[in-house]
Amino acid sequence: MDLRPHHLLCTQGYSGKGYSEEFVDNMNRLTAQLRGEEPVRIQLCFSTDDLCTCCPNKQGENQCSTNEKVLRFDRKTVEYFQLEEREYIYQELIAQIQKKVTPEMLADICSDCAWYPVSACKEKILKRYHENRS
Ligand code: SF4
Ligand code: SF4
Repeated sequence: MDLRPHHLLCTQGYSGKGYSEEFVDNMNRLTAQLRGEEPVRIQLCFSTDDLCTCCPNKQGENQCSTNEKVLRFDRKTVEYFQLEEREYIYQELIAQIQKKVTPEMLADICSDCAWYPVSACKEKILKRYHENRS
């Protein structure tokens, strides 16, 4: 599965809402696989990915209607979590990200995403952070 960097966060935060019915169907299928017990090999790609494929905002290869924003989300995710454009096991990478992520990092990456104030992203992505402090 191809995933762009900030989608490592979105696939953790996703709770069933999305841009269109096709997008939601695709997200449901991919997140079910990613959240399963079976390790999933992913290719981290610095471009449009398997989530973008079914998104009405995709305008072409590496072209999203909010490209400036999503490229910034990608860049910050790469910087915070020291990511490379290569293969990973999704569950291992998420475990590493969850060890490092803080509320400040997430706000810096995501705060101007339209989903940030209304979705479960903060709660889900920061679950481990809060568990370690309770
Ligand atoms: S707030 Fe937006 S960019 Fe951040 S994880 Fe959620 S959907 Fe993705
Ligand atoms: S909004 Fe852009 S980056 Fe996000 S899934 Fe759609 S095409 Fe991809």
